[in-house]
Amino acid sequence: MKATIPFVARTDDADRETWLEALRAAMPSFKIDAFETLNGEQRQAARVAIVADPDPADLGQLPNLEWIHSLWAGVERIVTELPVDGPKIVRLEDPQMARTMAEAVIAWTLYLHRDMPRYRRQQEARVWKMHDLPLPSQRTIGILGLGNLGRMAAGQLLDRQFTVCGWSRSGAGMDGVETFSGPDGLDRMLSKSDIVIVLVPLTDETRGLLDADRLSAMKEGASLINFARGPIVEATALLEQLDRGHLKHAVLDVFEQEPLPQESPFWSHPDVTVLPHISGPTNRTTASAIVAENLAAYFETGKLPEFVDRKRGY
Ligand code: NAP
Repeated sequence: MKATIPFVARTDDADRETWLEALRAAMPSFKIDAFETLNGEQRQAARVAIVADPDPADLGQLPNLEWIHSLWAGVERIVTELPVDGPKIVRLEDPQMARTMAEAVIAWTLYLHRDMPRYRRQQEARVWKMHDLPLPSQRTIGILGLGNLGRMAAGQLLDRQFTVCGWSRSGAGMDGVETFSGPDGLDRMLSKSDIVIVLVPLTDETRGLLDADRLSAMKEGASLINFARGPIVEATALLEQLDRGHLKHAVLDVFEQEPLPQESPFWSHPDVTVLPHISGPTNRTTASAIVAENLAAYFETGKLPEFVDRKRGY
């Protein structure tokens, strides 16, 4: 008999159905059913669940779970909501997502490198004026976080001849990239980067990481791209640095509160580009294939994929 794998998601019915379709297509040897439709026996029997922003109360009704496979790369919400002795958490590590995120990094780095916000403003004022264009090698791009996403982005920036540096917890090296770690390393990288790209996870250590002091320690006229999580950058401090002209532009894909509230000053700020959390979407087909591979390996060998370190928070 096929094992029943619960799909636990805090989402609407249409989205749940679309996910179930993709997951079932990728793993016909399993029976994947919405948590809501499972009977008591099936809930007791479940050892593993596939989750997308799950309600912890639902997971609490699956008492024998050994692990859960998230369909998202970011796990900060599950990590804070689930008890430390709860099921192990496996997050989505999809090379396609890293490629998609790297594409966003290239797109918005070029937007800033080519001074597009300035030309947009010139057009609005009917001004015909050229400005010098530095070479990519004359632009230093500092990436916070050299994990799955940061590394792929760094590689693609190098391919385009940008000067790239990266900051991570371990300071692990990468060919062609000057790497930094620790608070001093962060300050040094910030002081020399023309564009800073945030790709670290949100944890106790990274919440408010780019605060007033750090933002003011950034290079004069630098720009910021936040593709990770809103609370890593202090919103008020960022607005201050943009208003006083110390920072040139911010491309923000993520916010403390999403959707971004109507009254947020970010919406109308001339030096801010607001994006609705679209830089690295999960692709249903490639994500389902990865979950299928991980589940097949687990049921064949009992081996779990690499899981989240609850102490580190990522
Ligand atoms: P990852 O593979 O876990 O990499 C995280 C990187 O951050 C690693 O290099 C890690 O250092 C570094 N790091 C973590 N905590 C740190 C700290 N306290 N100090 C310094 N460096 C630290 O994660 P990922 O897959 O690249 O994803 C990164 C984040 O992107 C996710 O957590 C998620 O929030 C965000 N994301 C956003 C979207 C979107 O659409 N906007 C989509 C997907 C993901 P080590 O290398 O030393 O471990």
